Amino acid sequence: MSKHTKAAIFPLLVAASILLDGPLTATAGSTLPDPARAGFAEKLYRLDCGHSLANDESVWTPGENVGRNIAFSSTCWLIHRGSEWLLWDTGVPQSTLNDPKGWSTLPKLIVYHLDRTITDQLAAIGLKTDDITYVAISHTHGDHIGNVFLFPNSTFLMQRAEYAWISSPDGPNDNVNQLKALARKLLGTPNHLKLLEGDTDVFGDGSVTLVSTPGHTPGHQSLLVHLKNSGFIILSGDVVHLKENFEKNTVPSLNTDKAASIASMDRIRRMIATYKATLFINHDKAQTDTLKLLPAFYD
Ligand SMILES: [Zn+2]
Repeated sequence: MSKHTKAAIFPLLVAASILLDGPLTATAGSTLPDPARAGFAEKLYRLDCGHSLANDESVWTPGENVGRNIAFSSTCWLIHRGSEWLLWDTGVPQSTLNDPKGWSTLPKLIVYHLDRTITDQLAAIGLKTDDITYVAISHTHGDHIGNVFLFPNSTFLMQRAEYAWISSPDGPNDNVNQLKALARKLLGTPNHLKLLEGDTDVFGDGSVTLVSTPGHTPGHQSLLVHLKNSGFIILSGDVVHLKENFEKNTVPSLNTDKAASIASMDRIRRMIATYKATLFINHDKAQTDTLKLLPAFYD
C-alpha cells in the first residue's frame, strides 16, 4: 500500500471504530499489540494503596506456611498517555487512613492499613480525582475497589464476566461469598461503566492493553503498558500474589478456578517472553518495596 493510500484510509478506520465501539477496541480472540508497532504511554506512577497483614499464608500457598503471618503491599498505578489519565485499581478505602484498627475484607484472616490517600497522592502531582479519564479494575475484591466512589466522572473499565459474577448465586466457599457481598457494596453502580469482553486496547494504539487473565476471579484482568525507556511492563492484578507462587505455579485457595488460574499464569509467562516484559506483582511486598513511588515514575 502506498504511503498516500494509507494516509487516506487511516482517518476512515479511526472514524469507523469510534462509531462502532467508542474509543475502546476489543474483538474476539487476541488483540494483544504487535511488540514492534505498539504505541507508547508517557508515564507510569505507582501509588501506595495500602498494606496488610494476614495470619495464615497457606491461604495463598496451599499446603505450605500454615499459620504463618505474611505482609502484603497494595498497589495502584497511574498511567499518563496524551491528555488522558488511567488509574489501575483503587486500593483500600480512604476511611482506613491512620485507623489503628485497620480495615478488612475477611476479618478472621487479614487486616489492611492505609498511610496515604489516593486523593493526596494525585494532588502531589497536581491532579484531582476528576482528571482521571479511566479507572480500570483488575477485579472486584475489596482491596482493589475501595475508592470507586471517588471517581463519579471517570469511565470504569471491567470485564463483563466479573460484573456478572458478583451478583451470581453464592457457592460453597464462604470466604468467596463474603468477598462478593463486599464487592457489590463497594462497587455500587458506577455512573460510567464499560463492560469488556476479553482483551481490550484502551487507546487503540497498543500502548495500554487490558489482558484477560481469569481464575483468581471469573473476570480478572491484568494490564500491559508500553513505555519508551522501560519497555513493556505487565501489572499483575492478582493473577499471582507472590514471586514464589509464579515460579511454582501455586494457586491460592480463594481463587474461583484453579485450572484457569494456571492457564492465566502461563499466558503471562508467554507475554513476558514475547514482549521482554517486566512483571510488577501487586501484592508482593518484597518486590513492591524496590519500585519507584509517586512522584517518581517510569517512562
Ligand atoms: Zn484479589
